[in-house]
Amino acid sequence: MKGVFQILRSIFHRGNLNLVCVNPEKRMDGILFNPRRGYDHEMNVGNYTCPHCSQKIGFTTGNFDDGPGSRKHLLSEEDAKEFDRFRPARKKRWEDSLDFYCPGCNRPVRIIYKLEGEEATKGYRFEVFSIVEVIV
Ligand SMILES: [Zn+2]
Repeated sequence: MKGVFQILRSIFHRGNLNLVCVNPEKRMDGILFNPRRGYDHEMNVGNYTCPHCSQKIGFTTGNFDDGPGSRKHLLSEEDAKEFDRFRPARKKRWEDSLDFYCPGCNRPVRIIYKLEGEEATKGYRFEVFSIVEVIV
């Protein structure tokens, strides 16, 4: 499947991604990730379902934390630039994004979230508030 999207893109969009912001609750079954839950062995899990190929991709709190091995920005430079033009990953200080290619259809996705609360007291959580996808 890899490469199919790039071929479609070159045919239909001449190199420009056709992007849209969607409400995360339309795509994910969980949008709140609380680090404290991890200590109780009760992980927050949110599954993103790709609207194009129905592939489910699961995320846990660890995906949002900047820990060792954190792989949050996985888009090619070219695709990341197009996403940034449409909706920057860090518009505000406490925002960041998880960028990835759908393992089912290889389309790029940007999940935008914010950090809420005080990091010093571990009383914080991550909240997904927007998702950027391609329209085909
Ligand atoms: Zn997909």
